Amino acid sequence: MTGLIRSAKSLLLLEFLAGMWLTLKYFFRPKATLNYPYEKGPLSPRFRGEHALRRYPNGEERCIACKLCEAICPAQAITIEAEPREDGSRRTTRYDIDMTKCIYCGFCQEACPVDAIVEGPNFEFATETREELMYNKEKLLENGARWEREIAQNIAADAPYR
Ligand code: SF4
Ligand code: SF4
Repeated sequence: MTGLIRSAKSLLLLEFLAGMWLTLKYFFRPKATLNYPYEKGPLSPRFRGEHALRRYPNGEERCIACKLCEAICPAQAITIEAEPREDGSRRTTRYDIDMTKCIYCGFCQEACPVDAIVEGPNFEFATETREELMYNKEKLLENGARWEREIAQNIAADAPYR
């Protein structure tokens, strides 16, 4: 009996027709794929991408060299050196992140009392060499300047839930 049913199914191309029906159904549905890199999907405000060091609107660095981010980093990826300035304020003289060690846990951002170090929305920072992933303060501040608008929007969007 089972053999007979199988033969009838094959003869009437039932499985083939079921497959074609499924294809037809999906043909008219909205596309689930994106034409990356020309199209990009939405990102959560909590997305943890490339790091950036932020400045205040007057151009002053936010970071006060408290080293909380360095202390909390489980990958020991952050290295900070600091000195007092002439005006007595404390600022970093060195702020390095070894991005090859970073596990993108976001602890540095959580620990920072002044929202200086953040993980921004940029995920397109692949490099050809490891050396390019050794970020210094200059690179991190550049990232901050480049992504400040998006970072500020994300922090504001997430603020009610913190
Ligand atoms: S995201 Fe996590 S692992 Fe990466 S630098 Fe920050 S604390 Fe360290
Ligand atoms: S980035 Fe934030 S947590 Fe890290 S040293 Fe600067 S102020 Fe402190």
